[in-house]
Amino acid sequence: MSRSVFITGGNRGIGFEIAKAMAEAGDRVAITYRSGEPPAGFLAVQCDITDPEQVELAYKRIEEEHGPVEVLVANAGITRDALLLRMSEEDFADVINTNLTAAYRVAKRASRGMLRARSGRLIFISSAVAMLGEAGQSNYAAAKAGLIGFSRSLARELGSRGITSNVVAPGLTATDMTAVLTEERTKALLAQIPLGTAARPEDIAAAVRFLASDEASYITGAVLPVDGGVGMGH
Ligand code: NDP
Repeated sequence: MSRSVFITGGNRGIGFEIAKAMAEAGDRVAITYRSGEPPAGFLAVQCDITDPEQVELAYKRIEEEHGPVEVLVANAGITRDALLLRMSEEDFADVINTNLTAAYRVAKRASRGMLRARSGRLIFISSAVAMLGEAGQSNYAAAKAGLIGFSRSLARELGSRGITSNVVAPGLTATDMTAVLTEERTKALLAQIPLGTAARPEDIAAAVRFLASDEASYITGAVLPVDGGVGMGH
């Protein structure tokens, strides 16, 4: 079965692994990139998801080439870490806009076609930090926790139309986002993880592929942790 899949931020990191996993499963995969050369093998649309016009143009292009989006993976995200007293209004707003408001924007647009088709999969990439909190990441944790309430509301709103809405909550994952952490910080984070290592982007992609699969058709409103056990009990 080849579905029209759209992954935001699919040009690198976790999103890129998700794109590969979905393409391997036989889907028609579209990804966004902002600058530079996107990876080959996917329909790559240049799009800053914080810009409503660019999102609309991206959807038009994807719909023309792949048909209405049947699986949306809202993956794109940023961090702007700072302790509260040093966190600027801009750092707070940028993180909320990219991680939460843009997820609303792409999900709303995707839901149009899904409602018409009376089926669809919405998958949001949150974080273990959404439940645990993290010093220096109040903006990021707020956005990622917001995604959970957002997704669960959609699960209730859209469930009767055959649309599922779920969250994947990764823990520390080896990508550019975490490559900037100091060795000391990385060591401290690893010490809290029962499995003792960071996730590979492939680990997150496997969870997303499952939630998008037929096997997961009765799962909605869920938060699936892929975090080596760091958030258990939350
Ligand atoms: P990366 O920093 O490696 O990649 C981020 C991706 O998001 C890039 O593709 C980037 O595009 C895209 N992106 C960011 N802002 C925008 C924007 N305004 N418009 C379009 N695309 C944008 O991060 P990861 O792969 O690690 O993270 C992916 C998701 O997983 C994020 O939501 C992150 O918060 C979450 N996550 C990551 C964890 C980790 O430890 N790595 C842990 C828990 C959650 P571009 O290349 O154009 O900049």
